[in-house]
Amino acid sequence: MANFRFTALEKTLSRPIPKVKYPSNRVSDYYGSMTFNHKVMREYLTEEAFNVVEKAIDKGERIERKITDQIASAMKAWAIGKGVTHYTHWFHPLTGATAEKHDAFMNPSGEGRVIEEFQGDALIQQEPDASSFPSGGIRNTFEARGYTAWDPTSPSFIIEHTLCIPTIFISYTGESLDYKTPLLRSMSALDSIAVDVYKYFDRNVTKVYPTLGWEQEYFLVDSALYTARPDLVLTGKTVFGHASAKDQQLSDHYFGTIHDRARAFMQDLEIESHKLGIPLKTRHNEVAPSQFECAPVFEEVNIAVDHNQLLMHLMDKVARKHDLRVLLHEKPYAGINGSGKHNNWSLSTNTGVNLLSPGKTHKDNFRFITFLANIVKAVHDNEELIRASIASEGNDLRLGANEAPPAIISVFVGEQITNTLNEIVKMPSRHKMKDNSKFDSRIQIPKIPEILLDNTDRNRTSPFAFTGNKFEFRAVGSTANTAKPMFVLNTIMADQLTNFKADVDKLIGQGLKKEDAIFDIIKGYIISSTPIRFEGNNYSQEWVEEAARRGLSNHQSAAEALRGFISEKTVALFERHHVMNKKELEARYEIKIEKYIKKLQIESRVMGDLAINHILPTAIQYQNRLIENARGLKEVLDSKSFVKLSKNQLNSIKEISNHIFNIKQDVESMVEARKVANKIEDFYEKAIAYRDISRNFFPSIRTHVDKLELLVDDEIWPLPKYRELLFIK
Ligand code: ADP
Ligand code: MG
Repeated sequence: MANFRFTALEKTLSRPIPKVKYPSNRVSDYYGSMTFNHKVMREYLTEEAFNVVEKAIDKGERIERKITDQIASAMKAWAIGKGVTHYTHWFHPLTGATAEKHDAFMNPSGEGRVIEEFQGDALIQQEPDASSFPSGGIRNTFEARGYTAWDPTSPSFIIEHTLCIPTIFISYTGESLDYKTPLLRSMSALDSIAVDVYKYFDRNVTKVYPTLGWEQEYFLVDSALYTARPDLVLTGKTVFGHASAKDQQLSDHYFGTIHDRARAFMQDLEIESHKLGIPLKTRHNEVAPSQFECAPVFEEVNIAVDHNQLLMHLMDKVARKHDLRVLLHEKPYAGINGSGKHNNWSLSTNTGVNLLSPGKTHKDNFRFITFLANIVKAVHDNEELIRASIASEGNDLRLGANEAPPAIISVFVGEQITNTLNEIVKMPSRHKMKDNSKFDSRIQIPKIPEILLDNTDRNRTSPFAFTGNKFEFRAVGSTANTAKPMFVLNTIMADQLTNFKADVDKLIGQGLKKEDAIFDIIKGYIISSTPIRFEGNNYSQEWVEEAARRGLSNHQSAAEALRGFISEKTVALFERHHVMNKKELEARYEIKIEKYIKKLQIESRVMGDLAINHILPTAIQYQNRLIENARGLKEVLDSKSFVKLSKNQLNSIKEISNHIFNIKQDVESMVEARKVANKIEDFYEKAIAYRDISRNFFPSIRTHVDKLELLVDDEIWPLPKYRELLFIK
């Protein structure tokens, strides 16, 4: 019997380290060279067209037809100069990946000749035959009536001789069919109200936008070993595999020296990313063996989201060139850390102020506390929706697994800010005082010590932590499209600021000074949002109990958590801010829950197939050998010695038979349970049935298989083992 595991190991061990070739000594020489950025636009566009595009990017103003023709023609000239033959609208459909449909520039011009053509129409709109993208019933699939529309705020770029134009994807009736449309809508909702609120502090601001700096965790594995594991190929994770004798317990991988193959991969990834204007800045080893992280400098959220999607695509492409595979799954290996995507989120003004930077002056300090208190309140009031925004079957395996934040959302602000908030609570409310003329609320608020800026005390266990000048949302899964948690944060913040403004204006209307009105309102918010603040160990059992007492939700599986997207409260919230309507939310919910069901269905099938077709035959083969051996012993030994000396073999035979029996029985019961689940019509009920299949059968099948891995002769075990996947470089 051919054993792919050994062929794969041989291949892995004979890999040369690829030489990395930098395009130039200076990154600045090639940074953004494959993007249609400001510099290129200045060069290729007339002054008039350039200004129009700038305005469109800045204020979302429409671009006239005449100008789009000019831009298209400039893009074409620039792209052809770089060897481009095709163009495509590039978008984020609800499948979770990104989508493209390539069209050639070339067009027949008669007499067997062709010309290169690309006009305004083709730039601004395309109608992909997109009938197979999930739309959750919004678009009748046979109609295929969805179209993509250019998003000028995100620069077009070139990959593999193709010009990619970032677009949104919507149905003809205007419903969003992608991740980007609600993201852009949420940014605009947040912008207008945040500017209004900011005007309490500074009248010169005209734009407020969210910033995002993501940190992407991932695993690398040799492509030959990967191919020898059908579970990795089909599900992105290992469904079986006994723990390696050594894994992460020595913590010797974290921040250690990056091994040569991984380093070469990272360097190539950085080169490709930098050419596309993705500002990758850090790289390091993560906690688990063969786990790594990279992070860029933060950007405006729409661009950052595009860049993360693009990065995940590049990672896969570059890894293949290095005979490696990237595992983005939240939990590719049991028993060691999984991967997340920390989303560092803040708000910035067009005047360059980070709203979450504690300032040096009383005024800045007051502004900082105001926005911080509003965020904490927004998270408090919408914790279930936030939990829903990160729910997926993969993330279920990571959340609360003593390495990632639990499924309970809470906010960590650190000791100094906690002290400040507590002091504010102790101060008297202004509107209750007879004479408050002597007080200046701004000055009364204790200043945040400056050391905080560069020395935030951190709580790595918190799902949503303040880290000095931004919040770090750590519960996001590594495969996620970050648009979703981001449009949720933007929208709840837009809603919160709207309430805040109404509350403050009401008090001002009652005769209170502006500062005093703000003070009273944020004091009230700090008090009412206390239950969401938690500074302790989020991994502990005490917190689970404490959180329940505080009334915080704790949805263990995505099947339950996802319902947070279609609650009356959520629908009203998104409709109020014109981010999504009920139909769009319900469609998304359906798509997400269907994906949850399908992923577990596939995992269950893969488990069954591997167990029956790979594991059992191997176990039986080994069992036969033991039986042969026992027979032989019986022949050569006298019966007294046989009883004594064959004990181990006979026990092993029994043990193996026992595992074989259990695996067979569990797989059969699992298949029966699937048949029952598949007949359920209601999506939610079906998801719960699949959740239960994953809980009732996956762990037991796995336990028996993993025990067999320890018993069966290593020479014939068919699947690369954890020690090989994780340690062989
Ligand atoms: P750590 O691992 O200690 O959390 P990293 O350096 O890995 O820190 O990542 C920090 C991330 O936070 C980077 O992506 C960085 O760009 C981002 N960041 C810093 N300031 C802001 C900000 N104002 N808004 C959004 N992201 C920010
Ligand atoms: Mg980090």
